[in-house]
Amino acid sequence: MKTVIIGGVAGGATCAARLRRVDESAEIVVLERGEYISYANCGLPYHVSGVIKDRRALLLQTPAEMKAKFNVTVKVKNEVIAINRGKKTVTVKNLNSPVGETYEETYDKLVIATGSSPIRPNIPGADLPRVKTIWTVPDTDLIISFIKENNVKTAAVVGGGFIGLEMAENLSHAGIKVTLIEMLGQVMAPLDFEMAQILHQALVENGVKLCLGDGVSMFSDKENEVEIKLQSGGTVSAELVILAVGVKPNGELAKAAGLEVNPRGGVKVDDHMQTSDKDIYAVGDVIEVNDFIFGGKTMIPLAGPANKQGRIAADNIAGGDKTYAGSQGSSVAKVFDLTAASTGANEKTLIKRGMVKGKDYERVIIVQNSHAGYYPGAFPMTIKLLFSADGKKIFGAQIVGSEGVDKRIDTLGEAIRLGAGVSALTELEFAYAPPYSSAKDPVNMAGYVAENLLDGKVKFADWDEAEKNPGALLLDVREYVETMAFSYPGATVIPLGELRDRLDELDKNKRVIVFCAIGVRAYNAARILSQHGFEKVFVYPGGSRFYKATHYKDYITHGDAGFEKTLPPEKSRGKSITLDCSGLQCPGPIMRVFETIQSMKDGETLEVTASDPGFVRDAEVWCRRTGNTLVSKGQDGKNYTAVIKKGSGEQISGRAGGDGKTIIVFSGDLDKVIASFIIANGGAAMGRKVTMFFTFWGLTVLRKTKRQKVKKTFMEKAFGFMLPRGSGRLKLSKMNMGGMGTAMMKKIMRDKNVDSLDSLIEKALKNGVKIIACTMSMDVMGIKKEELIDGVDFAGVGTFLGEAEESNVNLFI
Ligand code: FAD
Repeated sequence: MKTVIIGGVAGGATCAARLRRVDESAEIVVLERGEYISYANCGLPYHVSGVIKDRRALLLQTPAEMKAKFNVTVKVKNEVIAINRGKKTVTVKNLNSPVGETYEETYDKLVIATGSSPIRPNIPGADLPRVKTIWTVPDTDLIISFIKENNVKTAAVVGGGFIGLEMAENLSHAGIKVTLIEMLGQVMAPLDFEMAQILHQALVENGVKLCLGDGVSMFSDKENEVEIKLQSGGTVSAELVILAVGVKPNGELAKAAGLEVNPRGGVKVDDHMQTSDKDIYAVGDVIEVNDFIFGGKTMIPLAGPANKQGRIAADNIAGGDKTYAGSQGSSVAKVFDLTAASTGANEKTLIKRGMVKGKDYERVIIVQNSHAGYYPGAFPMTIKLLFSADGKKIFGAQIVGSEGVDKRIDTLGEAIRLGAGVSALTELEFAYAPPYSSAKDPVNMAGYVAENLLDGKVKFADWDEAEKNPGALLLDVREYVETMAFSYPGATVIPLGELRDRLDELDKNKRVIVFCAIGVRAYNAARILSQHGFEKVFVYPGGSRFYKATHYKDYITHGDAGFEKTLPPEKSRGKSITLDCSGLQCPGPIMRVFETIQSMKDGETLEVTASDPGFVRDAEVWCRRTGNTLVSKGQDGKNYTAVIKKGSGEQISGRAGGDGKTIIVFSGDLDKVIASFIIANGGAAMGRKVTMFFTFWGLTVLRKTKRQKVKKTFMEKAFGFMLPRGSGRLKLSKMNMGGMGTAMMKKIMRDKNVDSLDSLIEKALKNGVKIIACTMSMDVMGIKKEELIDGVDFAGVGTFLGEAEESNVNLFI
């Protein structure tokens, strides 16, 4: 019997190899239109950055090897252009032939494994040479050589699915500044928004500029760049664009042959992988599959299902009786230091299906360490579990963390496959030793928490519950020392140990949202409150780590925040005491720092290593608020390091009411700006910490007088031309009189020995006034860093608000 397989990569190659193993006498021909068969398309993004250095590593099999090992005839660069079901032949175009030779290949059984192709949306300019897709080895070669030849420094990735994210990461690793544009309000659609926020935070921290909730309306060629017009009206310029906006099944051949296809072009098959023609099988990205969770049909283009289906088709062609039960979309992706994985349905899908939380489904979100906290290298993971309101069916799970995410998502995926309910999760037995897990594995914990929820022992808040219920009482039950590193806005702090004695301070009639570091103490507090007559008590899931990730915009200084990737040389760190907090989960590291510092002398330094990624940021704020000095911070592999010197820092109250002064300089009017600097210098002279935050028109004050050579878009150039360049060009807000009033004012100031604006700025910088340029306004107005005077810091509103919290005077000028 002769089997012809169209497509020689994941599903096709597996089918061919399996068929040979089960039927030594079969004649097997693989027709592949590309140059390569059985290559690792999932590894392609990692070759772009050089993580996978050797291109040959991507090519898993060659036609010669397939012949030698499996006696399979592989014809590459042979494209099937028609399936002739009546004659049981396929028409093949030999792409090697200069004259476009075609021929017919007969078959007894045919397998369509043509996969899918990246979508090139119907947007003007989507076919420009700088706009590329990544799907095959030649695509990858092209991207790599384009980067090299053009010394590409900026790229835009359109699409925030797993391929888009992998490309964003790998282009960043290759030293390219990446902007990621995604039409949805989040990346990685299989995750729910709040889980994706953890990825957003990581992307921004790693220097990727995110444009979420914004689509591309046009690409146009501009000198050595593509200008990308966004639907919001904004523009992004990049030397290279990667389109990763999804895939479409290569189902045209099947459709033209009269086989049944769905409206998206996906080939319909039964559970034996047979199409509407029983001699024709189809596998992989080109087919529609059963949705394992809810039944019905769906399309899930992933390598695992393609390989399994290829194997099943082979067995059935050889006379077997194998079936494919359906796909549940288990997937995992690396996003910089994070791993994001999901299986089954997400909450968006449940809601879309008309399901209601509390009635049809429930959910829990927990944060757990990858292994025992006391063993070095434990890394927290956030797990979201969705299940039926009676707990008998698990709909899906999502996990974002680092190590151990894959193992837990697969366990949950298999639990779903085997029809487990949430109680079964508590019973699963995991191999345990400290380097690998905890005695209660995170999956067990998800089961316990789900049971508690179903038993009515706990109610959980939404991730944005505080914003949705402005009248709610926010109760933080962490220790006071922890609030030095991070405080929940507007929360009342009563440490768990004091709660029983201080219940009368709380209003029983109010909705109470209880916060802590990871959710455990909040649960204990909620139990206390519920048993003392508080009826509306909700635990904030995941604690401060999850809160900060879901509200990351409030805690990040904009685009290029992030960690130094290497530590300063040991000598300059003045190391005296080391503290290894790896494996300790928040607030462990900061508590240990607090305890250790107490027994140290002023001036001694403490070098702290922690695996908790939030630690260095916490340490920074903690030092400022406790009068200690953060000498350096860094990341060394998977560990985060902070060197802290005891004392020598100005102690700032943890709550509002420090004695700093903050001035928002919004105006670009000469008189207003002079007034701002006089106040700022006055504050600095009184020994106060003064921060000036220049935003919108205020930014013009900080521009260098001389034109700087910087790359700008047309709009940015036009804007730059119209904006005054530097303090010398500012005008009075009143009585400018075509410049006469301004000149008169400058003369009067000179005559009366009042400092000019230039010298006021110089003095302010000398006196330690912190001058911050608002990065968001810079972006909007097209002002580049190089155009601003030296000594200016760049940050966003998060930094300003942090400073404002520690000030008792805040002016808007
Ligand atoms: P393919 O593997 O795409 O093979 C189809 C082959 O058919 C192609 O080589 C094509 O040239 C050939 N063909 C098409 N039409 C014809 C014709 N008319 N005649 C002859 N030949 C034809 N999946 C995961 O699960 N995890 C991942 O991490 C992952 N990462 C990915 C990263 C990238 C960059 C890409 C591109 C894909 C990734 N995928 C991943 C998806 C995964 O590769 C696909 O789901 C899988 O390859 C599908 O297998 P398939 O056999 O259906 O199609």
